[in-house]
Amino acid sequence: MLHFRTILTLIIALSSGLITITAFAGSGAPVAIAIHAGAGTISKEDFSAPLELKIRNTLKQAVQAGYQVLSSGGSSLDAITRAITVLEDSPHFNAGRGAVFNAEGKHEMDASIMDGSDLNAGAVAGVQNIRNPILLARKVMTNSVHVMLAGEGAEVFARANGIEFADDDYFFTEYRWQQLQKIKTAEKQDTQIQSEYPDHWLSTVGAVALDAHGNLAAATSTGGMTNKRWGRVGDSPIIGAGTYADNRSCAVSATGHGEYFIRVTVARDICARVQYQGVDLAVAADAVINGQLQDMGGDGGVIAIDPKGNIVLTFNTPGMYRASIDVNGNLAVRIYKNE
Ligand code: ASP
Repeated sequence: MLHFRTILTLIIALSSGLITITAFAGSGAPVAIAIHAGAGTISKEDFSAPLELKIRNTLKQAVQAGYQVLSSGGSSLDAITRAITVLEDSPHFNAGRGAVFNAEGKHEMDASIMDGSDLNAGAVAGVQNIRNPILLARKVMTNSVHVMLAGEGAEVFARANGIEFADDDYFFTEYRWQQLQKIKTAEKQDTQIQSEYPDHWLSTVGAVALDAHGNLAAATSTGGMTNKRWGRVGDSPIIGAGTYADNRSCAVSATGHGEYFIRVTVARDICARVQYQGVDLAVAADAVINGQLQDMGGDGGVIAIDPKGNIVLTFNTPGMYRASIDVNGNLAVRIYKNE
């Protein structure tokens, strides 16, 4: 009798549309996700085995958190937001808690997010004391008529929208502080040096995903460059440069020397090649990263995904922190080029 009732309840719920999402996710529609946590000159000598393990575990935890959202029928936007908050909460990456110091010894963070289903987007630039800048970027997308808010204005908007703030102490990491001291010392000897670039770990974070509804999304979050000044903003919060998503082509999140990524409009160029030239995502990403960007002297890489769930991880540096779970559920966590 109970069994019969359960079946009856299921039929009613199904016909009323109450459990459509679960049914859809279970219907075999492909879902996939990829994340990055920066590209640069990453070599084995740079960290101890326990630190490398910690970093790999955090990458795994982030990609799995995002995948869990997708596999239970959640949206690509929710999946990438989830993955990025895990990375922002870690002290190991240059975003949120582990953000680099600017020239004044503060943290100014940038983030952006884009919905491939309607090209809606939100971004913040140069925000301080925001615990998870990606959550603020998403609020700009959903709760304002704007795409990008910067500095103090963005913080006023954050307060009005219930976004969590954190003290300077929360963002302090000894490693990043030493990075700043090192560059300040070098700066005294050479007036040309204004920020640590490019031959180092960049550690910006990003995510792209395809959900069971066929929607793509992309997001990126960063503290930018160590010792930056004058309100410098990189590519990460710029739609079309550091982040882009369009269901008709692909979703891209970038990491690297922002000034070059802005000039090449890396994320949009990759999607445009897919859309207008009809080339595969891997071909488009290779042409932009190993072609145009590299020819100009720009270092870095992208993670990207197309509407079928094909994942591409392309970079022209010795390493890129990256992880993915493909349409078959296969997990990969990698750091160096040849692995
Ligand atoms: N693209 C970032 C910026 O230039 C840095 C990075 O990717 O690590 O601000």
